Amino acid sequence: MARIVDGRERAARVRMLVAERVARLRARTGVTPTLAVVLVGDDPASRVYVRTKTRMAAEVGIEGRLLELPADVAEAELRARIEALSEDEAVHGILVQLPLPAHIDPERVLFAIDPAKDVDGFHPLNVGRLWTARDPVSDDLLVPCTPRGCLTLIEDVLGREGIRGRRALVLGRSAIVGKPMAALLLARDATVTVAHSRTRDLAERCREAEILVVAVGRPRFVPGDWIREGAVVIDVGINRIEGPEGRPRLVGDVDFAAARARAMAITPVPGGVGPMTVAMLLHNTWIAARRQLEGDGAP
Ligand code: NDP
Repeated sequence: MARIVDGRERAARVRMLVAERVARLRARTGVTPTLAVVLVGDDPASRVYVRTKTRMAAEVGIEGRLLELPADVAEAELRARIEALSEDEAVHGILVQLPLPAHIDPERVLFAIDPAKDVDGFHPLNVGRLWTARDPVSDDLLVPCTPRGCLTLIEDVLGREGIRGRRALVLGRSAIVGKPMAALLLARDATVTVAHSRTRDLAERCREAEILVVAVGRPRFVPGDWIREGAVVIDVGINRIEGPEGRPRLVGDVDFAAARARAMAITPVPGGVGPMTVAMLLHNTWIAARRQLEGDGAP
């Protein structure tokens, strides 16, 4: 029976470390690290995420600034507002909550963010750094938060050295999760396969994986018999389904109960990857603030 990887507890430890680092940075510079969160429209899920992010920021001593814009805001106006934040010296991190309304091109919006303030790590310059850096998990790079959190959980189970040479399968190839996850596992010397909706023999590919990261967005998409005995399973999916008595319930992309019987370690949903994502966002905000206030190679 697999060990359940407690993302809540691990995320709390990351936040504690960030709080200490933020306090030291403030003591050295007299400046409070500040994160600007841009919310376009009033999607209820996005609103919940944004509230969680700003509340958690406050708890570690980061000032959160919320910029709310109406759903029909023109793309040029949104870009202008982001450019103003990019130029504002009092703002160290900028996050644009996704998804954006259909009339806005997210890529053009991302380009308006100063790469030094891109705490989501989605700007093409930071994506390039992720793939080319010798150690992308150093404290100097802005790496996408969800895969960074997944890597931390995998390292907790296997140790950094324990990832070396292992067969890893990343199921899903989004720019937010799958692709950066592959880059991080590759940087840790895993042998990485990225699977997607056109992959043939998906079950077989999964069964080969010693590390399996699933980010598909379909409830319980991966059945238990796709799991290799002794695998480390990281379930990124967050799916809302109807539970007993019609109550909404969150489940992952993996059939948790069946997978648990075969895996060595597995993340639950909720309480696995989700809390790590927010913790890593705060960590990235500290990185961005420290680099802007103290330059490269700062303590
Ligand atoms: P996307 O929809 O952007 O990507 C989904 C990926 O899954 C695509 O690469 C797609 O393939 C692949 N896929 C879809 N259907 C199949 C299939 N039948 N067989 C094989 N592959 C398939 O999703 P995201 O990466 O943004 O998110 C994935 C999940 O993770 C969602 O549930 C999301 O809510 C969750 N998530 C959780 C976070 C957290 O903090 N815990 C953060 C971010 C996301 P193709 O490219 O070929 O279309």
